Amino acid sequence: MEKSSVHKGTLFIVPTPIGHLADITHRAISLLADVDLILCEDTRTSGKLLKHYGIDTPTRAHHMHNEHKDVDRLTAQLSDGMRIALISDAGTPAISDPGFLLVRSSLAAGVEVITLPGPTAFVPALVQSGLPCERFVFEGFLPHKKGRKSRIDSLCNETRTMVFYESPHRLIKTLKQLTDAFGPERQASVSRELTKVFEETKRGTLSELYTYFEKHTPKGEFVLVVTGKP
Ligand code: SAM
Repeated sequence: MEKSSVHKGTLFIVPTPIGHLADITHRAISLLADVDLILCEDTRTSGKLLKHYGIDTPTRAHHMHNEHKDVDRLTAQLSDGMRIALISDAGTPAISDPGFLLVRSSLAAGVEVITLPGPTAFVPALVQSGLPCERFVFEGFLPHKKGRKSRIDSLCNETRTMVFYESPHRLIKTLKQLTDAFGPERQASVSRELTKVFEETKRGTLSELYTYFEKHTPKGEFVLVVTGKP
């Protein structure tokens, strides 16, 4: 992309790989090389990706611990004409990651926001689950403690396919709680390490998946897909 073709005073939301380094678009690479600043969830993690693609644009940390404090200053810089890209450690920013606050504040200030299409974990997990995907709900992470049971209960009558993000430490607990709430026969799918060396998808009923992961310690990153109430 030629420098002149990049918009002035724009926030670019740029998806980055969820594992496989090649899963990034040509447009994303050109844009990251061309903007004035890249906001990274973790500058060291993103540094590896940027180095791999020979991108030496200045970076700054923008994560859940400083986004509230930094959002006004960044919005002012965008209003002054700065071209800033936001990336997260993996996938699409603002999807279970920082980003929403800066997008909202930029739009409120009249700054143009352009979001590139690209990697995110829930789409491949949903599609390869083999469960209905013409209508679905993305639930992200369930609350860890407070509000967890009421969130699960609120989904008992959900007829659309449900997509959850889960950590390896909580996967078994979640499978057990969903089995109890939705019934053992509900069809589901668990995808782990998408696009990575140990990528794997297990399909079955909630109780079958619970039994499987009780015997095989969950390792890596997980997306859980559960079919809706029939
Ligand atoms: N922004 C990311 C996206 O667009 O998917 C999500 C970030 S969220 C902090 C991280 C969670 O996404 C993980 O705990 C896991 O549930 C899911 N995830 C990310 N990468 C994954 C992968 N390669 N395989 C399976 N799940 C993944």
